[in-house]
Amino acid sequence: RPYKADDTRYNTMQYRRCGNSGILLPLISLGLWHNFGHTNDLETGRSLLRCAFDNGITHFDLANNYGPPYGAAEENFGRIFKEDFQPYRDELLISSKAGWDMWPGPYGNFGSRKYLVASLDQSLKRMGLDYVDIFYHHRPDPDTPLEETMGALHHLVQKGKALYAGISQYPADLTARAAKIMKDLGTPLLIHQPRYNMLDRWVEDGLLGELEKQGMGAIAFSPLEQGILTNKYLNGIPKDSRATKDGRYLKESQITPELLKKVGALNNIAKNRGQSLAQMAIAWLLKDERISTVLVGVSKKEQLLDNLEALKNIKFSESELKEIKSVLG
Ligand code: NDP
Repeated sequence: RPYKADDTRYNTMQYRRCGNSGILLPLISLGLWHNFGHTNDLETGRSLLRCAFDNGITHFDLANNYGPPYGAAEENFGRIFKEDFQPYRDELLISSKAGWDMWPGPYGNFGSRKYLVASLDQSLKRMGLDYVDIFYHHRPDPDTPLEETMGALHHLVQKGKALYAGISQYPADLTARAAKIMKDLGTPLLIHQPRYNMLDRWVEDGLLGELEKQGMGAIAFSPLEQGILTNKYLNGIPKDSRATKDGRYLKESQITPELLKKVGALNNIAKNRGQSLAQMAIAWLLKDERISTVLVGVSKKEQLLDNLEALKNIKFSESELKEIKSVLG
């Protein structure tokens, strides 16, 4: 049962440069927000990670509080890493984050140096790693000076606990300030992790332009709007879907008839391109070269294989783009 990675793993995946850095990212990356908690089956998680790496997905994205409970995804990843992926450590880019609530009291949330430094130490222990490749501040903190938060990221890179630093969910103006602070410190920010998908296009209004200006990459999270941008909800809400099983972040009430009408129209456009809706949603993000990689979550291997097929066609004709725009409004 010992894992041996597929020898053909680098044959088909395409890689894109992350901003002005030395790092190449696979066009599709795998996130462990869901499906890796202690309530999930570890063997399913293992099969997802193996399938990903066997197909050239070299980037796994985690955070301190992915679970449930908080910390569980890192613990489970750590177990699987130790058993399966240790020999491949230098072929992998592993990220973690801190910025949301993690432990009780005033030092387990937001953006203080106290929180970030302690949290990364905890993450490294849970995962059994000496360092992460990317450490992110997970969201802006309105009350901590940005200099302190960025100083903590710089410090952790200097200490060798992270190779690169990133930010997530920062608006364009704050991104510009953060990038300036980090450049001055000598640890340029590698990457920004924003929410971006066909139904949530806020990044087009300034953020992507700022990232290009700063020479930073972008990794788009929730590219399938947690599963809504697939064909799965078109004929009712399946029992094994995130909306039914989990309900923490995607609620059945969010999947309204108006939304499904839009999704149905997008599904038809995808069919005409010879793609599943999930594939088109991924391709639609990658048509913009400023998107370094699309960060999917999957609950089944088949979903990952479906998503990987997106890379066969990431070009859109003018008329397809127009049609999509008219559906999205
Ligand atoms: P997606 O939008 O890709 O949604 C994933 C869900 O979509 C899956 O769990 C599955 O749902 C469904 N799905 C995926 N592929 C298919 C397919 N081919 N056909 C049908 N259904 C499919 O991403 P997530 O919302 O999971 O986010 C991805 C990653 O982004 C996270 O794991 C995390 O790493 C990161 N993230 C970062 C955040 C941040 O603040 N920085 C916040 C949120 C996420 P089902 O379970 O129903 O089968």
